[in-house]
Amino acid sequence: MWSTSSRRSGFIDGAMKTKAGDKEPGRCVVCGDTNTVKSHIFPRALMHDLRGSDSFLHEALDSKAGTRFLQSGPWDQNILCDKHEAVTSRPDEYAVEFCRAVIRSIDQSGYDGFISNPQPNLLARFTYQCIWRFAASQHGRDLAALGPYAEILQRAVFEDGPCELSFLIARNNLRTPIGTEATMAIAPFPTRLGHVRTWLFSVSGLQFYVKLDRQPFPINGDSYSAHKSTSVRLFQLPAQLAHNVPILQKIITNMVS
Ligand SMILES: [Zn+2]
Repeated sequence: MWSTSSRRSGFIDGAMKTKAGDKEPGRCVVCGDTNTVKSHIFPRALMHDLRGSDSFLHEALDSKAGTRFLQSGPWDQNILCDKHEAVTSRPDEYAVEFCRAVIRSIDQSGYDGFISNPQPNLLARFTYQCIWRFAASQHGRDLAALGPYAEILQRAVFEDGPCELSFLIARNNLRTPIGTEATMAIAPFPTRLGHVRTWLFSVSGLQFYVKLDRQPFPINGDSYSAHKSTSVRLFQLPAQLAHNVPILQKIITNMVS
């Protein structure tokens, strides 16, 4: 469990309000095939990195006190057939290596370095599919919350469509009251970066802000955009106490209760 007195790993889920899903259980959302397989919201390897030497993760929700034990993070067995699950493998594998390289780079040269991203389309598809998987799954239950972007994300991920949605990557800026990094993964949820509507998720010590808005990113944000860049620069955010973030307050309270 993540708490104020330890650095154990946690997974924050349910930051988004849930409602009854409109998908028939057990059918691939993309093609309708009933032969569905397990789909993890975030790649298992990154969740194992988060777990570290612990034998499991602790998941906390905004709707329920306490935590639930997870081996490899949340998943859903009813959203993708084996063919469409396979489509997501290569972007996930690429992102695992990318995220690990970012953390290594920060450890070696601080925040100012550029991180090589030789195949930006793969990183973009990873970013899009994390949001899509969450929204389509039993955890998000609301693809419609993505509005017209649900189809844009789905086309980019599953139909080799264009990866036109910008996103920024920032180092996790959330801290515990004693100043250490709040080590947690956060399931995707809608938020704003300045005046721009984004969806944010956090995994592997990084925050991904995906712009689901026609407005440009503020404060030269577009120069940090990673969706087409072969050399990614991390966006800088001021440190913030995790329990001061409104959408996390109820979840953290539930986690430690
Ligand atoms: Zn399918």
